[in-house]
Amino acid sequence: MTRMHEQSLLRSVLEHSDAIRRKHHASRIKEVRVEVGALAGVDPTLLASAFHRVESGDFPIPESLVIDEVPLTGVCSACDDEHTMEDFRPDCPACGAWLRFVRGDAFRLISVTLVDARNEGPTLSSEGPVGREESTRG
Ligand SMILES: [Zn+2]
Repeated sequence: MTRMHEQSLLRSVLEHSDAIRRKHHASRIKEVRVEVGALAGVDPTLLASAFHRVESGDFPIPESLVIDEVPLTGVCSACDDEHTMEDFRPDCPACGAWLRFVRGDAFRLISVTLVDARNEGPTLSSEGPVGREESTRG
C-alpha cells in the first residue's frame, strides 16, 4: 500500500538535503540521516520503500538514507531513570510512578553527509524540524 504522506516527507527531506549540498558546493550526498519517533506518525518501512522507489529528477539522490527509530521515552518522576514507554504505558516499569515524556514524537533531519564539499568537513548537522535552515555556519 502506498501512502502519500511518507513520499511527501521524503521529498521535503531530499529537497532540504540538496539545498545543503548546493550551499556547500558538494558534488553529491553520501548519506542522509533522519530521526523517526514512535509517535511521529511516520512509518519507517514506508519511508524506506519510498526512498528505494524515488527517481532522480530535479536533484541527485543520496546514496543512502539512514532511519534512526526513536522509541517513546520517558523519565521517571520518582526514580529519575529513563525508560522506553512500552506499548505507550505512562508508568515506570521499575517503581510504577509517572514517566515524564522526553522524546519519541519527532520526525527530523539529523545529518547530511556530503562528498567533495569544497569548504567544510564531510558531515553537517541540522537541528530542528525538516524544512528549517540548518545552523551550520563557517
Ligand atoms: Zn521509577
